[in-house]
Amino acid sequence: MIQKAKESVQPKVLIVDDEEAICAAARRLLRSKNIDCVTASTPQEALKILKREDCWVVVSDYRMPEMSGTELLEEIKKNYPNISRLMLTGFLELPIIQEAINRASVFRFITKPWDETELLLGIETAIQHSGRKRTNSQLAHEIGVQNQKLEELTQNLESEVMKRTQGIEESRRMAESKQKLVRELTGFVKNLSRVSTIPQLYEVLYYEMTRFHGVSVPYLLTFEEHGRGRLYWMQHENLHEKHISSLPQHFGSLRLRTSSPEDRVWWESHIKKECRQLVTIPIRAREIPSSLPVALFLVEHDLDKGKLVDFLERITERLQPVSIVLDKIMLRHQLEIAAEQWEATFDGFRDPIAVVDKEEKVIRANKNFFKKDQSRCYEMFDKRTELCIDCPMPIAISSQEAASGLVRTATQKSYRVLSYPVLGSDQVRRVVNHYTDISHERDLYLKLVQSEKLAAVGLLAGNIAHELNNPLSGIRALAQLLKSETSPSSPHHADLDEVERAAIRCQQIIKNLLNFSEPSTEYDENVDINDLISITLPLLKTNLRNQNVHTYFAESIEKVKLQPSQIQQVIFNLVNNASQAMASGGVLTIKTWQEKGKVCFSIADSGPGIPPELHQRIFEPFFTTKGVGTGTGLGLSVSRSIVEKFGGQLTLESKMGLGTVFTVVLPSKPLAK
Ligand code: ADP
Repeated sequence: MIQKAKESVQPKVLIVDDEEAICAAARRLLRSKNIDCVTASTPQEALKILKREDCWVVVSDYRMPEMSGTELLEEIKKNYPNISRLMLTGFLELPIIQEAINRASVFRFITKPWDETELLLGIETAIQHSGRKRTNSQLAHEIGVQNQKLEELTQNLESEVMKRTQGIEESRRMAESKQKLVRELTGFVKNLSRVSTIPQLYEVLYYEMTRFHGVSVPYLLTFEEHGRGRLYWMQHENLHEKHISSLPQHFGSLRLRTSSPEDRVWWESHIKKECRQLVTIPIRAREIPSSLPVALFLVEHDLDKGKLVDFLERITERLQPVSIVLDKIMLRHQLEIAAEQWEATFDGFRDPIAVVDKEEKVIRANKNFFKKDQSRCYEMFDKRTELCIDCPMPIAISSQEAASGLVRTATQKSYRVLSYPVLGSDQVRRVVNHYTDISHERDLYLKLVQSEKLAAVGLLAGNIAHELNNPLSGIRALAQLLKSETSPSSPHHADLDEVERAAIRCQQIIKNLLNFSEPSTEYDENVDINDLISITLPLLKTNLRNQNVHTYFAESIEKVKLQPSQIQQVIFNLVNNASQAMASGGVLTIKTWQEKGKVCFSIADSGPGIPPELHQRIFEPFFTTKGVGTGTGLGLSVSRSIVEKFGGQLTLESKMGLGTVFTVVLPSKPLAK
């Protein structure tokens, strides 16, 4: 490529002609028209000038010695396409013109000798033509440069877009893998939250672990008290559990590490199979203030070192929530133990205990708390339809303090009930009721009261009897005196007779009272009960005229040491009561029999019977259901006191509508008086 001359703004014309005169004429003409102009006498010189100077138009002679004008202009066309080419020629022959146009694209032909105007016009038009060409090529050049810049920009943009796309793709992949991790972790935590036992925990861990490529069969070893443990592992889709009585001591301080050969031997001996590589991961409970683990997680794997590190990192992160679950399981376990202990203690109480809410519903009760098929405490306790009378619960609830009460059941049992309020935030939410059966103590107490009463009555009766006996003796003596002075036919005689009989009856009552209250002066004898009954019955003949009397005496019977008249009085009282109970007829049955160390007799009637609520009261002194003048209410109380004085017992059995049996049991070797 020809080196280009520096471009000039001023158009310059190169005239090439081997005749100096033509060159000079052209120079003169063009300069006169202020057109810059250079001349060359040979084509070579012209080509040299063009290397040096930027010419817009070349006007060349056709005929020159070394090179024709057509050849020169062809050369110029090739190397300087923006230069407009004109040809000066004396002969305008068509072949020359054709050749010049075809080879050198000659812009215009000017004939010699030239017409100045034609030459100038041709040159100016050529200058304009060249100017346009220059402008075009300048524009083309600029467009080329712009295109190139555009091309570069496009390329930059493409690579930027490519880079960005790669970045976005990378972030998307990262986001996706993070999402996957979060999903996995959420699923794992969700599964863990449903876990409530160690075997369940193991199963969740098993499925979590085996997701890691190259990891299989995790083992879980939980530590228990006194160096014991429990091992869990999965084999053939079945969970195996094994109790271990003695764990190696160093297991308690194991850290996250690859299992040592000794440990491996230990594991293999327990799981009865050869293991691949093992790694131990200690799990610590959070709430237990010890740095020692509460469980060991052991994983079998065939990971290389790099992957193992990655695995351990992920697994440590994964196992973090397991600590919380372990806490939960252990607390639950402790709670179960505490509940069991509490229940055992609760049931261990001999007394019934019940925890009752404010609506009297039983929340818990120990096994001694009666029927458990009802919901309210009174239904369970006494088959009642409302709160027991004197139940202390309402007081305990309203006063917020322990209260006690005495409750009697339908079965005639007495309970001392202690109600302990259990306070919620600021009010009683429930009550613990403790029931103590005091029936026996209460019976004893009532008996004590009764015997005190009897003793008091006895004392009183004795005093009254002594006081009454004297005036009665006076009345009786006076009645006898007046009677002796009155004619038997007088109506007063009968009245006086009645007064005397009444006085005698009063004295008999007083005698009975004195017997009851004062020690007898009679001496003990060895008495045959059969004989005693036999001699007493005839005395009661009048009383028994409406009844059938049956006697069944034991064939041989031991004698009893006692005062016969007193036992006679007992027989008399019991037979008299029986005959009065069967006033319009019935059967009186008297039996005697011998038991080991005891002599017994019973007096039974077929009367109406005695209602149960009176069984105690009929033994009270002065208790009678008989009309005035018929009963004194002393017969049974005196009889019981006599029998008990000889170390015996007087009891009764009675069925309403069927009759009553009074039984006397006397020791055959009576107590010393
Ligand atoms: P009294 O006979 O003077 O009433 P007791 O002490 O002997 O006094 O008897 C007390 C009460 O016991 C009697 O009033 C009667 O109601 C009842 N009683 C005693 N024995 C019998 C009996 N065999 N059958 C029915 N009731 C009886």
